[in-house]
Amino acid sequence: MSRDNQFDVIIIGTGAGGGTLAYHLAPSGKRILILERGDYVAREKDNWDPKAVNVDAKYNTKELWRDLDGKELHPHTNYYVGGNTKFYGAALFRLRQKDFGEIRHHGGISPAWPISYDELEPYYTQAENLYQVHGNRGEDPTEPPAGKAYPWPAVSHEQRIQHLADDFRAAGLNPFHTPLGVMLDEKNPRLSPCIRCNTCDGFPCLVHAKSDAQVLCVDPALQYPNVTLLTNALVKRLETDGAGREVHEVVVERNGILETYCGSIVVVSCGAINSAALLLRSANDRHPNGLANRSDVVGRHYMGHTNSVLMAISKCPNPTIFQKTLSVNDFYFGSKDFDYPMGHISFVGKLDAITLRAGAPAIAPGFTLELMAKHSLDFWLTSEDLPDPSNRVTINRDGEIVLTYTPNNLKAHDQLKAHLQRAMKQSTCSIHGHQCHEGLFARNLYVGQRIPLAGVAHQNGTIRFGRDPKTSALDANCKAHDLDNLYVVDGSFFPSSAAVNPGLTIMANALRVGDHLLQRLRVPIAEYAANGSKSTMAPAVVG
Ligand SMILES: Cc1cc2nc3c(=O)[nH]c(=O)nc-3n(C[C@H](O)[C@H](O)[C@H](O)COP(=O)(O)OP(=O)(O)OC[C@H]3O[C@@H](n4cnc5c(N)ncnc54)[C@H](O)[C@@H]3O)c2cc1C
Ligand code: SF4
Repeated sequence: MSRDNQFDVIIIGTGAGGGTLAYHLAPSGKRILILERGDYVAREKDNWDPKAVNVDAKYNTKELWRDLDGKELHPHTNYYVGGNTKFYGAALFRLRQKDFGEIRHHGGISPAWPISYDELEPYYTQAENLYQVHGNRGEDPTEPPAGKAYPWPAVSHEQRIQHLADDFRAAGLNPFHTPLGVMLDEKNPRLSPCIRCNTCDGFPCLVHAKSDAQVLCVDPALQYPNVTLLTNALVKRLETDGAGREVHEVVVERNGILETYCGSIVVVSCGAINSAALLLRSANDRHPNGLANRSDVVGRHYMGHTNSVLMAISKCPNPTIFQKTLSVNDFYFGSKDFDYPMGHISFVGKLDAITLRAGAPAIAPGFTLELMAKHSLDFWLTSEDLPDPSNRVTINRDGEIVLTYTPNNLKAHDQLKAHLQRAMKQSTCSIHGHQCHEGLFARNLYVGQRIPLAGVAHQNGTIRFGRDPKTSALDANCKAHDLDNLYVVDGSFFPSSAAVNPGLTIMANALRVGDHLLQRLRVPIAEYAANGSKSTMAPAVVG
């Protein structure tokens, strides 16, 4: 193999995990190859078009997966430079401190992580700086201890959301500002990269002002001559050496041609479902159940959160443009009348009639879809789903991904909805009093109330890390127990899913694993921190 195909580190995937790791390793001078199956998202007006994005699913992969019965699944996932962070809502939460320990839920046990919150804390701070998170410490009653303030003040509420926050507070709750990765400078609106628009959550940012892994990590990493990115490079298999101890070759399909690359270290970061699929597809004589799978956990314990979108319709309109500023965690670990964790309440981007029409939700009495869209507060509810070994990713005889999932811990989610309903009934307005709230309506763009199987936005857990090689595939550094040079840094490593969005934890963990890799590559970390990219490369928000 020519030197052109040999690298110190190969990173597969450019999302929250892979993109962040590439950024962290870039100043090391090591030869780094980044392989990404997708291309850059085209910058075009459709980026912000609700029909193109939500109805035509223009940017979703056209890849077909199957459910257990062989029925087609059209996964709501995106293959681009930056991965799903190009489309995410950029709500960037730390897990709660207790999420790292074992927690009893109504539906069973959420297992402990092999690392403590304290071990990840400095990396959360780094990730919040890198992804320019806007938030206010001290408002969220479940917030874990943090060494530093957020790098940017919280994104302010618009009037209707501020009114709701006041109502919730009057009802005894502790609403807080959602920590958000958008490059908004409210003090200098004329110079602010982010224009606070209504097409953020689920949409790519046309003006590159969302804190995504392409803009903040991959592109800056590519300024280093030692870093190479190949797009449209689909990794098909990982081949091991004869002893089966090392990944020896990465087999890539590019422009219809198979190519092979070698890396002293190979990092898989394809997203929890595709990473598991890649390891399973790479089975060989030494690893007959798939790579790194002596434990038989690869592909198992798939989690994706139990999520619902609920529209609270009020008689008063909701003219909010950027709606994702408010969250409620008062029920995260339980309440007086339900002594188990329930989860997290926040918002999706403001729903519009075009998007609603595609799903034909139940219509509130006396309302049209247009009126509903104008009057709804659009809540996003997240409850923890528990790691069940039968919920899993497998590969069928045709090489397609099969996703098997039976929802669990649903009582917690039902209780969360009931608690929100109660809180909304207490909301009031000067014109209609408590009668302003008309009820909660599910946005059933998808059939039924919960986001279904194809909604894999929060996928995690399929290559769990742990201390025991019999029950986990990765060690505490996210290195495969069974191989000496294989790491995984996407959402696969979660042993439990908690109930806040996973992005920031994936980013922070990638930085943590990055430090481990720098040590392994004998790059002096102290010097690195002083000269590295952290302070100089991140595009600063003007102002
Ligand atoms: C609409 C939407 C809204 C969301 N909102 C939030 C939010 O507000 N907050 C939050 O924290 N999270 C949110 N998420 C989830 C968040 O985006 C993911 O948790 C995060 O991006 C996962 O990071 P990852 O590195 O595991 O995988 P990804 O970001 O999915 O990256 C995986 C990358 O690997 C590439 N790849 C896959 N297979 C291969 C292969 N075989 N060869 C080469 N490349 C491959 C993919 O193209 C992709 O670029 C949202 C997701 C979606 C879809
Ligand atoms: S301009 Fe701001 S609000 Fe609009 S998509 Fe970009 S980051 Fe999101």
